[in-house]
Amino acid sequence: MKHITLIGILTICISTTAFAQKKSKEIMVKKTVKTEEEWKKELTPQQYFVIRQKGTDAPSEDGYTNHFEKGTYHCAACELQLFKSGSKFRSHCGWPSFDDAIDGTVKYVLDKSHGMIRTEIICASCDGHLGHIFDDGPVETTGKRYCVNTSSIKFVKSK
Ligand SMILES: [Zn+2]
Repeated sequence: MKHITLIGILTICISTTAFAQKKSKEIMVKKTVKTEEEWKKELTPQQYFVIRQKGTDAPSEDGYTNHFEKGTYHCAACELQLFKSGSKFRSHCGWPSFDDAIDGTVKYVLDKSHGMIRTEIICASCDGHLGHIFDDGPVETTGKRYCVNTSSIKFVKSK
């Protein structure tokens, strides 16, 4: 019985994440291009692992997961503004979650790694890995969940 329930849950999870893609608006963002050597020097080892090697932070209630101050979240690698604090919500999934990104700042890439079909989200300026987008966000807003690694972002408080 337990097995059937687990398979059912897995099927729902996979089907809801398969085509979670939002139309990206055509806004030009200045490209940031650096060599891997330069990124390695500028980023912490964990930031480099997540942003440049498409790694994932361990799920946690620390970092920015439960951070709800007013301000903006920038790309930790190139400083591009990505998310506003007003888009952040409590998803209880262990990663910072947003229901929307600032227009044109996030790109969507089909990701077939780890035996799953997901939509990866990357920074439009430096192509750094941010996380993935899913269709299980708040229904009262966009219905999207931008599931972002704390290591990929940097919070800037509003003045
Ligand atoms: Zn960036």
